Formats: sequence, C-alpha cells, structure tokens
Amino acid sequence: MKALVLESCGQPLVPREVERPAPGPGQVLVKVAACAVCRTDLHVIDGELPHPKLPLIPGHEIVGTIEAFGPGEAACGLQIGQRVGIPWLGWTCGACEYCRSGRENLCDAAEFTGYTRDGGYAEYTVADARYCFPLPGDAEAVSVAPLLCAGLIGYRSLVKAGNAHRLGLYGFGAAAHIVIQVALHQGREVFAFTRRGDNAAQAFARRLGAVWAGASDEKPPELLDAAIVFAPSGELVPLALRSLHKGGIVVCGGIHMSDIPSFPYSDLWQERSICSVANLTRRDGEEFLRLAPQVPVQVTTERFPLVAANEALQRLRSGRLNGAAVLVP
Ligand SMILES: [Zn+2]
Ligand SMILES: [Zn+2]
Repeated sequence: MKALVLESCGQPLVPREVERPAPGPGQVLVKVAACAVCRTDLHVIDGELPHPKLPLIPGHEIVGTIEAFGPGEAACGLQIGQRVGIPWLGWTCGACEYCRSGRENLCDAAEFTGYTRDGGYAEYTVADARYCFPLPGDAEAVSVAPLLCAGLIGYRSLVKAGNAHRLGLYGFGAAAHIVIQVALHQGREVFAFTRRGDNAAQAFARRLGAVWAGASDEKPPELLDAAIVFAPSGELVPLALRSLHKGGIVVCGGIHMSDIPSFPYSDLWQERSICSVANLTRRDGEEFLRLAPQVPVQVTTERFPLVAANEALQRLRSGRLNGAAVLVP
C-alpha cells in the first residue's frame, strides 16, 4: 500500500510502498477514506515530542471502513464495512490509577495513533477496536476527519473552560473553528485572537460568529471568563491571563508549546488559573460525536491527495490554511 513515512525527525515525509498491516488480536484493519492533518503531526515530525516510533506513518484523525478483524473475537460490536473514526488515543493499560479513575487520557502506558503507533497517512491502517468510534455510514469522510482531534481536543478544552460566558480563542485554526460553533450553540460569546495582521483568519472568525476578532497582543473590548490557547506559543499564556476577569482560566489546548515567559504574580492573583489539556478519553469522543450533529458543526476543509502530505504540513506550519487540511488516499 502507499504510505507517507517519517524516517527521521526533522525530515520531510517520504512516499513509500509498504506492506499492508495485518490486524492483531482485538484489532481492525481499516481502509482509510480521509485523514486530517493536525498540528501535533508537525510536533512529531519536527522531533518536538519524545520517542516517536520510527519509521512512522503519522496521522491520527482517521475516517475509514473496516475491512477485516484480527484473530479472536470480533470486537466491540463493530462489523465489516462499518465506518469508524480512529483518534489519537490508541490504547491504554486499563490498570494504572489514571485508567481506573476515569482519566485514561493520562494513562502511564498509553499508546498514541500516528506517534507511538502507525497512523492514517496511508491507504490502510490497523487500530484497537475498543478505541475506534463508530460513525454513521453516510458521514462524509473529509468533513468528519477533523472532528477526531481538532474537534475532540477542542471540546475537552471547552469543557475545562467551565461555564465561561465570554470565551477567548487564541489561534484560530482547525480546533478553534470547530469550538466556536459549539460555544455559540451553548450561548457563549467568542473573542478570536490571531497573529497580528492575519486578516483572513479574523474575517473567518467573524463570519463564524465571533463578536470580536483581533491580534493576540490586543486587549479584547471586555474582560473574558476563560481563554483557550490553541497556538503553540508560550508568550500567549500571559497575554491571555491579562485578558481575564477575576477567577478566569487559561486552558492550553496543545500538546507542545514554546516556553512561557515569566509574568508578575498579580496577573495570576484573584484566583485566575492556567491548565493544560492532555489527549482524550473515549468518553470525550462519545460526548462530542453525539453533540456535533446537534450544533451542527460544519467543518471547513481543504483536501490534499495523500502524496501532497508535505505540502499540507507546510501550509499548516505557515498558517496558510482556513480550517483543516485533510489527506485523501
Ligand atoms: Zn493506564
Ligand atoms: Zn491532533
């Protein structure tokens, strides 16, 4: 099968003809219909996350169809021909204190799709059936793929923001353009922050219903109850903190961020807080995939053929994408 392979970090992906993977016990073989490109893929490829599997097929926002089961029991009520989504969380141990307390996103031994396991930048992939999300058969693969990480992590970040009414989103890419729709559906007001001069992203945010859009070093017209930082720039954290009301929270939604500069304690004082969001639980996925059609979330995508993965990654890196890039084998 065709696959785009990371052979060493810091290098472009290499198109390769590789053996189609065989599903092991409890796994399914999935024919990939679409795989969205996530900023985490850039962090993996650039070597910013430790110990990736190498060589590696990246990609963890996969929509496809089950073609075969591994040996043993057919798993989890899934069927041949069924459409499924495969997310970042690929496997957890089920035994550590995090798994046993409903926090499998923090599992000590977790495996991640497109990072410690091969992912979806390929014609086929295998996944543990217990971590696949069944999707409706008529779901359009390209539109659904970005929900599987941008949507899911965005949703987990939004939950962490509590019942904040005025919500700031720092970095208006794939995740933010989904979160704004959910937030508006919940009756919140959204303020969008982008790179200075990124008029296209600001216009995109206003079109989606942001009450205000501006540069990330600007003060919003009103103080916020919460801010979610999706952009991987640590300097945004103190800026976001200064835009908050007393008691407000800054949620860092990314897996990797440059260092956070120091700031005076008075910026944090009055019970402001900063937290991060790590990975996802299967429950997040079930909740969000149930909620998305009710909003209904409309995903803006730009599709690329699988072989153009490097170009899609480059566009994401330079911020020249509206919405989410999606690879189609
Ligand atoms: Zn565990
Ligand atoms: Zn992701």
